Amino acid sequence: MHNRRDFLKQMTLLGAAAILPMSFALGQEDVVAKTVDPLFTVPNRNILNPKRTPRKIAIPNVGSFQVLKGDFHMHTLFSDGYVMPKARVHEAVENGLDVIAITDHIEYRPFFGGKSTQLRERNDDHNIAYDIAKPEAEKNHLILIRGTEITKSTMPPGHFNAIFLKDVNPVAEAVADWKKMLAVAADQGAFVFWNHPGWVAPKSGGLEKGVPMSFTSEHDDVRRKGYLHGIEVFNGTSYYPIVANWCNEMDMGLITTSDIHVSEWNQYGSQNPLRPMTLILAKDRTEDAIREAFFARRTIGWAAGLILGRPQWVEQLFNACVETAKNNNSLQLTNRSDIPCQIQIDNNIHELKPQSELALPVDPALKKFTVANWLIGTAKPLEISIG
Ligand SMILES: [Zn+2]
Ligand SMILES: [Zn+2]
Repeated sequence: MHNRRDFLKQMTLLGAAAILPMSFALGQEDVVAKTVDPLFTVPNRNILNPKRTPRKIAIPNVGSFQVLKGDFHMHTLFSDGYVMPKARVHEAVENGLDVIAITDHIEYRPFFGGKSTQLRERNDDHNIAYDIAKPEAEKNHLILIRGTEITKSTMPPGHFNAIFLKDVNPVAEAVADWKKMLAVAADQGAFVFWNHPGWVAPKSGGLEKGVPMSFTSEHDDVRRKGYLHGIEVFNGTSYYPIVANWCNEMDMGLITTSDIHVSEWNQYGSQNPLRPMTLILAKDRTEDAIREAFFARRTIGWAAGLILGRPQWVEQLFNACVETAKNNNSLQLTNRSDIPCQIQIDNNIHELKPQSELALPVDPALKKFTVANWLIGTAKPLEISIG
């Protein structure tokens, strides 16, 4: 039997029953191999990315810190997302992330409580997505952080993510009082950040249309109590420039997330370089080190070609990524990272692409340039001094 046709002919001649002992004689595998016709098989591969190699994002270390890539706001079927928790793990690995947090809503779980007994039994268990994804994450060397989204329907307070939780259920038990939810999360050692502060959605915990976003006295109250540590500056496709100044003024962490609900493929396609993520300057690639970095405010957002972060860390990241040399009337720049830089001198912007070099003729008296797409405050690009 050399091909499928021969095999089918044999089948017909011998009858289906006769093939069974023959398959034992040949070895089951052998029979299966000979029945595969490459013209009639569906390749188990993404045809646009046939090797399905995980995205490699090259970013040099910043001093003694590794630069890890993470997404700390993601939904699954266990709230209002469209995918299972294990799929989030595979998507993250393919997109070159080191760490994710699945943060399903506590208050909004529209797919829950259906006919499946198993789901009904776990209806009050808010750790279920983490429990399902955790073994898969370990198998794939992805760091999975336990998290949740606290989802209030008025603004203030809006929505918050609590990550590095030990158990989501006690937070859920305090559902009647949002400040208590934050207190319980903080008591577990969680890092809590305010989500999408400029989202317009009056009935779902967003702003009324036409009302400007503001850091309210309610938010300031929980910040002062130590229950609120960061704010999203970029969420999905929304960018909130004012948050950069708030974080500088109040010593809070800048967070950039996808808040993804559909599949990665449907939202961003495959390995999209504009995909939002938070860069973490961590002492090592462990959950403890990532948590330490969050509380030390060493997080930098990267989305839609923009870098956004606290001034000190953005400057150090730039110096780690880009080598700068000036001699007399020429400026040489070497980008050793996968992050694009827009080098601005006077009113001219020069693209310094990932992993590339640029030589610019400059005035010998030039003392500094700006990096137009690397921001250290609201509408405030990074300035680099040159000797
Ligand atoms: Zn939300
Ligand atoms: Zn969300």
